[in-house]
Amino acid sequence: MSAMSGQTPAESPFHSRLPIGERLDASALTEGLPWAFDEIRMRPLEPMLVPENPRGGEIDRSTCGPCAPSENTIWHDDLWQVYASPEPSGLPFIAALSPREHWLLEDAPIDVLAALGPLMQRMSEAVKTIPGVARCHFGRWNDGSAHLHMWALARPAGMMQGRGAALAFWDDVLPPMPQEMAQEHVRIVAESLAAGGGVAFPHR
Ligand SMILES: [Zn+2]
Repeated sequence: MSAMSGQTPAESPFHSRLPIGERLDASALTEGLPWAFDEIRMRPLEPMLVPENPRGGEIDRSTCGPCAPSENTIWHDDLWQVYASPEPSGLPFIAALSPREHWLLEDAPIDVLAALGPLMQRMSEAVKTIPGVARCHFGRWNDGSAHLHMWALARPAGMMQGRGAALAFWDDVLPPMPQEMAQEHVRIVAESLAAGGGVAFPHR
């Protein structure tokens, strides 16, 4: 881990009781999520330093990924856009929903926020029309890019080992889809979204 100069350990009642440097027992993950993990070995708990390194687009807006037009934008309307990586994933579909303008969750205007609920509903329905998909899960982590974004992840039908938060880990573990299959799944979602408004593949 590289520490930025000027960083000091975070101080709070929460932090002060943590066993920094110790390797913690991970058996709660194999007992609590037995459907995914047989054995896990945690890395020793590292010092938690602040201020944290800036996220993408946090200091220099001109380098913000979601702000730039991309041919990997699979759909957009006036307020929101959906981005899917061109690299085939292990899950049947994974994409990021973000506002077209550079908003954070903390400062996004109410019309942008109000449009997210209906979009999540449309996204979920669109993802579930992909052959072999049972559910669409959403995750909002926002540690990489400062620009507000939310992940949509498709859970394969019958995959009880992918229930809950374990689904995100399976994306890196399942064999990546063939390129044609990945493109077909993206097309299905883009066209399904566009049928309800907005434009599929606006930059292609
Ligand atoms: Zn941005």
